[in-house]
Amino acid sequence: MQPWTTVPYPQLPGLGIPLRLHDTATGETRPTAPGRTARMYVCGITPYDATHLGHAATYLAFDLINRIWRDGGHEVHYVQNVTDIDEPLLERAKRDQDDWVVLGMRETALFREDMESLRVLPPREFVGAVEAMGEIVELVGKLLASGAAYHADDPEHPDVYFDHRATERFGVGFGTVSSYDEETMHRLSAERGGDPDRPGKRHPVDAVLWRTARDGEPSWESELGLGRPGWHVECTAIALNRLGAGFDVQGGGSDLIFPHHEFSAAHGEALTGQHPFARHYSHTGMIGLDGAKMSKSKGNLVFVSRLRADGVDPMAVRLALLAGHYREDRSWTDPMLATATARLARWREAVSLPAGAPADEVLARVRTHLSDDLDSPRAIAAVDAWADQTVTRHGRDTSAPGLMRNTVDGLLGIEL
Ligand code: ZN
Repeated sequence: MQPWTTVPYPQLPGLGIPLRLHDTATGETRPTAPGRTARMYVCGITPYDATHLGHAATYLAFDLINRIWRDGGHEVHYVQNVTDIDEPLLERAKRDQDDWVVLGMRETALFREDMESLRVLPPREFVGAVEAMGEIVELVGKLLASGAAYHADDPEHPDVYFDHRATERFGVGFGTVSSYDEETMHRLSAERGGDPDRPGKRHPVDAVLWRTARDGEPSWESELGLGRPGWHVECTAIALNRLGAGFDVQGGGSDLIFPHHEFSAAHGEALTGQHPFARHYSHTGMIGLDGAKMSKSKGNLVFVSRLRADGVDPMAVRLALLAGHYREDRSWTDPMLATATARLARWREAVSLPAGAPADEVLARVRTHLSDDLDSPRAIAAVDAWADQTVTRHGRDTSAPGLMRNTVDGLLGIEL
């Protein structure tokens, strides 16, 4: 698929600081250690609805990683998928009597617009499940051949499942990403699209790799028979074929830890025999609305496109979301947006002055805070202090406003 249009990325003086990042799998915050080219895979949307603030917060967090690595002199190979065939898309199309292909294309186009407006740097490769069908089929075929996958004991629908114990043969148990116990895995499988109670599986948590064709559902002809792929293996194939095993960061919202990332990793490890699938598993907190969980079932989603249509400056949305720490579950509120709007105006006022307080130290502080597990609240506070000083007392450094404009643009992605 065509990714969205990129935004200019200003070069900052000096070199950025290596990023330390929390890893869900080990529970540690430790340095990412990318080679010359940093490799990141972030799970994309299922395009059945518009981009809500939870999605936006997630892609903004990984955008910070992208920017910090670039500032540190790395190239970034960033891959993101689009799950353009899966249950939620088919269910929504059916509900609205829409064509699932048209619905997917429309929402993907809107997502691109939202990302562009928020000035998220685009992935180098933006890959739909449908266009990756051949590589997914090939990967499932290899898992079957190696004994890591099996057909469900169901003559009518012998769907292919992944045996979650497949990596044990080379000494890696299941659960290395989430560390959840079996009861939690069972519960989350049921809540998040799995089928733990389906008869004919070897084990309840085993996840589907290839679902044989059902009446009224789209399906693809393949060596596995007519059907369509499971969600987790889609990401395994797209990531492995572009980034290789042991890439730097696998990212997504915290609701993807299990089963999605656990299984994507297990599929990849069973296939390659290499552990870990990714060196860091990075997860963002959930965004609620006025203290309640934001979810499609509650009907309280706040969409980026709706805010844009209401005339809200996307830079204020970006700043409001970055004012909280990416790993914390937090709530979207009107005062939060008002604070961000006021802050944006203050920063803009400060950088429009002919001179300001010295900015070299501020750039260093922003780099330090962001490289410390993306501490954007403290980075923002450092810019606040500079803006306050510049607006109230002015300053004599004529290069400072320009440097701050570039700092905020390059590292925080905010255009002043
Ligand atoms: Zn994924």
